[in-house]
Amino acid sequence: MAVRTRVVTDDTADSDVIRSEQMETIEWSAADKKKWLAALPEEFLLCRVVMHAWNVPLGFHDAKVNGRKVKQMDLVCDRCGTEKDARIKVTRTKVDRDSVAMHYPDGYLAPSGMYITKNDAWMELARRRKAIRRGETAETE
Ligand SMILES: [Zn+2]
Repeated sequence: MAVRTRVVTDDTADSDVIRSEQMETIEWSAADKKKWLAALPEEFLLCRVVMHAWNVPLGFHDAKVNGRKVKQMDLVCDRCGTEKDARIKVTRTKVDRDSVAMHYPDGYLAPSGMYITKNDAWMELARRRKAIRRGETAETE
């Protein structure tokens, strides 16, 4: 694990305060990643592999995001419980996609600095389903 320091300049008016912020840069090994994936609950792994099973509600409700009035639909994944706030902006002449906010259950996201690719998730599923035979490699490119 390496720790690096970043200098941040505060750009608010009449202030030239410079503060220093400690950022942890954790370097995860391939073994750490495999261990994390092996402990990942089945429903989280399946959603990472085949995407969420969204339960789509019937309607939208009014919401405000950063001062913008939007219509929001609250989706919930039937498998893992992840919540998605999908927003649209409706005007008299058109409808545009606005923003999306995701709320993941505890344990869904990998720890900071650990990147799990789709391939990593498929590899873990293959391992659990015993699709990888002795002598075959389970390494990603
Ligand atoms: Zn899900």
